[in-house]
Amino acid sequence: MNRNIDFTVGPYQLALDITNKCNLRCLHCYNASGENRVMEHELSDDEVIKFVKDILPMKLLNFCFCGGETLLRKELICKCIKMLSNCGVRTAIVTNGILASESVIRDLYHSGLNSIQFSVDGAKAESHDKLRNKTGVYDSVFRAIDIVRKYDMEMSIAFTPTSFNIEELEELHTKLESMSFNNKIELRVQPLMPLGRGNKNLENICPTDIQYRKLVNTINTINARNPSIKIVWGDPVDHLIRFPEHTELPMYYISIRANGDIVTSPYLPLVVGNIRNHSIEEYWNGGLYELWKKKIPCYMAAFIKSVGDMGRITEKFPATFMDDIYIDMLEKDLDDLSLLPNN
Ligand code: SF4
Repeated sequence: MNRNIDFTVGPYQLALDITNKCNLRCLHCYNASGENRVMEHELSDDEVIKFVKDILPMKLLNFCFCGGETLLRKELICKCIKMLSNCGVRTAIVTNGILASESVIRDLYHSGLNSIQFSVDGAKAESHDKLRNKTGVYDSVFRAIDIVRKYDMEMSIAFTPTSFNIEELEELHTKLESMSFNNKIELRVQPLMPLGRGNKNLENICPTDIQYRKLVNTINTINARNPSIKIVWGDPVDHLIRFPEHTELPMYYISIRANGDIVTSPYLPLVVGNIRNHSIEEYWNGGLYELWKKKIPCYMAAFIKSVGDMGRITEKFPATFMDDIYIDMLEKDLDDLSLLPNN
C-alpha cells in the first residue's frame, strides 16, 4: 500500500491484544497473561470487528494481533485479517505455537496473514519448557514452525534471554539455519522485562550483566558472518526515551489492550482512553497523534531510562496491566500533572 507521510490520517502501525487469556503461565510474561485485570473486560467479537472497521480509513501499514495467546480467538482473527488484507493492510500475529496446527495455519494463510511470530527460548526443550512453565511446549512450537515453512509467510522467532538459556542463542541460531527456510525469517532478541510475572520471578531468571555482555558479543559475531537468518535486537526502552525528547515526532504506533484501553506504551501504566468510550478516529483527531507533546506521558516516561527502571517504576506508580492510571485524553487535560496520584 502507498501512503503519504501524513499522520493526521492515522498511525502506521497498530497492535491489538486480542486476548489476555492464555494456555500458558510463562515465568517471564510481562503482562501476566491469564492473571491480569484487563482480561476481565475483554472486547467482544462484535466490538473487535467494529473497531477493525473503524480503523480501515486510517490506511494502516501493519496490524499486529498480540496477546495473551492469540489463537484462542482464531476465528475472530481470521475474519479481521480478511477485512484488513482486503484493504491492503499487512497483518501479523504473535503466538506460543501450541494451537498452531496444520489447519489453523492454513486458515490464517488463506485469510491473508503475512507474518507470524513464535517464541523459542532456547536450543533445548528443557530451557524453553522451564521458562514456559510446561513440558512439551518446545516440541509444539517446532512442529508449528515446520508447518509454516510450507507457506509463503514471513516468520519471526522471538528469544527472551534468561540466566539459564542465554548461552543457547548461538545453538538455536544454528538449528534454525539448518532448517533451510524459504520464508523470510529473523531471530529477534529482546531483554527480559521486570514487569508482570517477569518481575515476580526476576531473581530466579534474570541474566547477569556479564551474561548480557557475552550475549551482545555473540549477536555481533553471528551477524558479522552475514547469516541467512539475521539476529535483531529489540530495545523496549528506546521509544520511552526518544519520544519525550523529540516531541515533534508523531505517534506512528498505537497499542490497544484486550479491554479496549489505549495505552501510551505497552510498558507504562498510563491509559489515555478506551475505544468503548469514543471511536479511535475521535481519539486520533483529538490529539492522539501528538500524545508525546503532553506533560503526563513525558513525565511518567522520564522514570524509565533502562530496562531495570521498568520494575522500579512501581515505587512511584501502580503496576502496568494491574492498576493503570486512567486519564481519558478527550475528557481531561494530559498536561495537568495534578491528575497523577501522589502529585
Ligand atoms: S508470555 Fe505469551 S505464551 Fe507466555 S503466558 Fe504470556 S502471553 Fe502466554
